Amino acid sequence: MTSNRFYTFLHRQIPIIILLSLLPGLGYLFLGWLNHIFIPAFVWYLLVVIESAWGYRLYRTFDSDTMSENQRESWYRQLTWFFYIFMLLWVLIFLLYVRHDSQKLHYIAIFTEIGASVVAASLLASDRRLFKPSILILMIPLISYFLLIGASYAYVLSAFACTLTWVLLYTANSTNHLLMQADYQATHDMLTGMYNRHFFIDHLQKRMNSLRDNAGFTYLLLLDLDHFKNINDSLGHDIGDLLLQQMTLRLEQQLPKDTVAARLGGDEFIVVGGTFEDREICSQTAIQLSKRLISNLKEAYLIEQHHLYISASIGVSVVSRRCDNANCFIKEADIAMYEVKANGRNGVFLFNDEMSDRVEKNIEIESLLHFALPNHEITLHYQPQVDSTGKVIGAEVLARWNNHKIGSVPPDKFIDVAEQTGLIIELGNHILETAFQTLQEWCDAGIELQQFAINISMRQLTHHTFVEQVEALLRHYHSGKMCGKIVFEITESVLAEDISRVVAVMHRLKECGIRFSMDDFGTGYSSLNYLNRLPIDEIKIDRTFVGAIEQNEQNQAMVVTILKMAKIFKLRVVAEGVETAEQRDFLFSHGCNMFQGFYFSRSLPKEQFVAFYRNQHS
Ligand code: C2E
Ligand code: CA
Ligand code: CA
Repeated sequence: MTSNRFYTFLHRQIPIIILLSLLPGLGYLFLGWLNHIFIPAFVWYLLVVIESAWGYRLYRTFDSDTMSENQRESWYRQLTWFFYIFMLLWVLIFLLYVRHDSQKLHYIAIFTEIGASVVAASLLASDRRLFKPSILILMIPLISYFLLIGASYAYVLSAFACTLTWVLLYTANSTNHLLMQADYQATHDMLTGMYNRHFFIDHLQKRMNSLRDNAGFTYLLLLDLDHFKNINDSLGHDIGDLLLQQMTLRLEQQLPKDTVAARLGGDEFIVVGGTFEDREICSQTAIQLSKRLISNLKEAYLIEQHHLYISASIGVSVVSRRCDNANCFIKEADIAMYEVKANGRNGVFLFNDEMSDRVEKNIEIESLLHFALPNHEITLHYQPQVDSTGKVIGAEVLARWNNHKIGSVPPDKFIDVAEQTGLIIELGNHILETAFQTLQEWCDAGIELQQFAINISMRQLTHHTFVEQVEALLRHYHSGKMCGKIVFEITESVLAEDISRVVAVMHRLKECGIRFSMDDFGTGYSSLNYLNRLPIDEIKIDRTFVGAIEQNEQNQAMVVTILKMAKIFKLRVVAEGVETAEQRDFLFSHGCNMFQGFYFSRSLPKEQFVAFYRNQHS
C-alpha cells in the first residue's frame, strides 16, 4: 500500500517540472526565432503552456486530507500521464531541432535531451513507474540520433549515451531504494513489521473519506493484550518482544484480506475492516472476527521453552459518516475496549452511546474531583457494626462527596475515577487522616468500639509511601488507645496485583497493629489459596449474598459455606447489607456474630453516629 508521503512527494514535483519547462521554453522560442523556425517553436511552447495548465490543475486538486482512496488513485493516474506527456514534449522539441542542418540547433537538441533526462531522474526518483519510462523516452531518441549519423565518432557517442542512460537509471534506482526505505521506516513498526500509528491514522482518514462519498460502513477493532506487562516484568522485554512478534503473525493470518492492521504502540493493535453497506452486518462481522481473534490468540505460545498464554480485550466501533475525524472512532473503540477491561478482560464490546455518556460523566467527575478536597466537599460517614444483641461495637468509614454542580456522587463512582487518575492517593490520605482524627476524638470521649474499618483501595495500598504514611498517622494520633481497633478493608482485586508485594505491605502494617478484612467476600476471584497466603483477620460477606438469603436454598447454602470456611480459617465474619430481621436471624444461627446494614442503621454523619451510640448506651 502506498503511503501519503509518496503522493505528497510527487505532488511537490509538479510546480518544479512546470517551472523547468515554462522558463527554459522561452529560450527555445528565442532560439527558434533566431534560426527561422519560430512558428513550430511557438506551437511547441503553446503545447507546453497547455500541459502546464493541466499540471497546475492537478496540483490544485490534490488534498491529502479530504481525498478518498479512489480519488487519489485517479489523481495519480492523471499525474502519470501528465509526466509522460511532458517528456514527450521534450522529445518533440528535440526532433524539431535535429531536422535542421544548423549545427547550433543540434547542440541545443542534444543538450535538451540530456538535461531533461537528468531532471526526470532526479525529480521523479520516488516512483519507478515514472522515472524508468521517462528516462527511456528521452534517451532512446538521442541514442538513435547518434547511430543514424553513421560515423565512427557517432557510434562512440551513442555508446556514451547508452552509458549515461544506465547511470541515470542506476542513480534514480538507488535514490528510489533509499526513499522507499525511509518511507517504510516512517510507516512501519520495527518490531512487528506492521503498519504504525502514523500510517494507520492516515489510512483510516482516507477510508473515511471514501465512506463519506459512498455512504458505507466499516469497523474498527482496538485490541489490547491482557496483563502483557506481567510477561515483560517477569520474563524480560526480550521474551515480551518475541511474544509480540508471534502474536502479530497469528493476528495477520486471521485477518481477512480487505482489512488493514497496525500496531499503535506497546501491546495495542488496531484493525480497520472492509466496506459494508449495512451497519448491522458490519458490526456483526466485527464481533465475529473479534471472537475468532481472541480464541486464536489465547492458544499457547512456545517462546524459549516458556509456554505462554495471553488473552486480549477488543473494543469495536462502527465507522460511518457521522464523524469526520479518524481519532473520534479510535476513541470510541478505546472506550469499548476499556469497558471490556473493566468487565474482567478477555472479551469484546461494541461501542454504544450509553458507554460514551458514562465516559463523559466520568470525565466530568474527574475534572470536578480535583477540586473536591480543596473545596472541602468530601465528608466521611460512619456506618455502625453491631453484635448479635444489636449493640454497636464497630463502624465502617464511608466517603461521601457532595458537589454543587452534580450533586451527591456515590463513592463507588468517584472512588473508581480517583483510582484511575491516581487521585486516590491524595483522597485516601485525607480519608485516613480524618478517620484517625475521628477515632481519637471518640476514644477520648469514651466511645468504646472494638473496631473501626477503613476502606483502602488497591492503588493506595501498593503506593510506595503508604506504610510510612500510616506509621506517621499512628504516631501522631496516640496509637496506644487506637491500636488493634483499626481494620483496613481490602478487596479481592489485590489478587490481580503482585501478590508477594501486597503480602509484604500487609505484614508491615500488621506489625503496627492494623488488622485486615476481606471486603465483598465471594464476589471476586474467591480462591481458597489466597485465604492462606494473605494475612487477613476478617471477611465481610458481600451484601449481594446477604440480600439473596431469602430467595432460595442455594443462596443460603452459599452463605453457610462461607461461614463454615471462616470458622476453619479462624476468621471473624461481618455480614454486610443486612436489611431484615430474618437475614440477621439466619446469619446468627449459622455462627455469624457481627452485622452491618440498613436494618440496624444507615451510614451516619459523625455527630449522628455519636448520638446513635449514646442513645443505645444510655
Ligand atoms: P463497601 O465497602 O462494600 O461499603 C458498603 C456499602 O454498602 C456502602 O455503600 C453502604 O452504604 C452500603 N450498605 C450498607 N448497608 C447496606 C444495606 O443494608 N443495604 C444496601 N443495599 N446497602 C448497604 P457506599 O457508601 O455507597 O459505598 C460503596 C463503595 O464505595 C464501598 O463499598 C467501598 O467499596 C467504596 N468506598 C466507600 N468509601 C470509601 C473510602 O473511603 N475509600 C475507598 N477506597 N473506598 C470507599
Ligand atoms: Ca467496605
Ligand atoms: Ca463490601
